[in-house]
Amino acid sequence: MTKQYLSRTLLGIGWILSGSAYAESSESIITETHRFTEVRNEIYLVQTTAPVFNSNSLVIVNDNDVVLVDSHVTPAKARDLIKAIKAITPKPVTALINSHHHWDHAHGNQEFRDIPIIGHEFTYMKLATAPLDEPTYTDGLKGNAATLARVQERIAAATDPEEKKELETYLELFSEHVKDFDEIVPLPPTITFSERMTLYRGGREIQIIFLGRAHTGGDVVVYFPQDKVVFTGDMAFSGPSYLGDGYVDEWPDTLENLKTLDFDIFVPGHGSPVTDLSRIGLVQEFYRDLWAKAAVMHADGVDAMTAAETIDLTNHTEIPIRNVGTSPVTIKRIYHRLENPD
Ligand SMILES: [Zn+2]
Repeated sequence: MTKQYLSRTLLGIGWILSGSAYAESSESIITETHRFTEVRNEIYLVQTTAPVFNSNSLVIVNDNDVVLVDSHVTPAKARDLIKAIKAITPKPVTALINSHHHWDHAHGNQEFRDIPIIGHEFTYMKLATAPLDEPTYTDGLKGNAATLARVQERIAAATDPEEKKELETYLELFSEHVKDFDEIVPLPPTITFSERMTLYRGGREIQIIFLGRAHTGGDVVVYFPQDKVVFTGDMAFSGPSYLGDGYVDEWPDTLENLKTLDFDIFVPGHGSPVTDLSRIGLVQEFYRDLWAKAAVMHADGVDAMTAAETIDLTNHTEIPIRNVGTSPVTIKRIYHRLENPD
């Protein structure tokens, strides 16, 4: 399957897949399944090369060991990751950190049952309490089914034999990915904390910090003070994140706390590293405005579906919004927060 064709296909399939479209840089090491891009000083952004699904992991190669952040979307993807790490270093993985509880970052955890898994106590609570019944997970499964149906439709409609063959190859890959979900047995962290903890590994200091509620109730960032790098998971992208479990009212303050750390590059949970730190301020403004506008609609008794269709955020010209409106999941979550402040 050609790269251009794949990226066109992926663009049609959904934003979350865009994470796998990260451009190769000269510093990248490519294994059979993964691309390792050195961010700085043996801190690697690690992404799957298969055009199926990607959530970022961070592989930190220390003097004597390896620390990993986020375990990928399925046990199968985690096993690929373990194999890929072995291909770049003989040092053992001695700890896994969960940036948050979402399925696409934490459902490879079971492959790390022999080492400490570190996460916020909220992440523990979520992964220990019926995570497979969470709407964000069940919506993910619906998304998988929708993708399969869409690709099948495209195959049926394809007239060019080459295009058809490429789509069929993609369908096979994606079907395999969907089957991999069947073996998920969620595993919560084995070491939790509420504010912060620090790992000292050889000459490296790794700070794991809860900066406040944001994308979930338990996002942590992994901060490397010596290297001025921070891994933010899904709580900071160059644009808005998924808001379905978010605390949009508190998120701008949490991002303000992030800005107090001394760093000049951040690695998000999907997509490429970000060096234009002014993006954080733009996203803060976006969340503040979204919250305020949704609150007005809520106070006026506008139902969530109508609010989602009519809310106008097109004034945020630096944020990629094509039309008026936002996702019903976002507005429902904001309404829920307004009705259940805690
Ligand atoms: Zn997430």
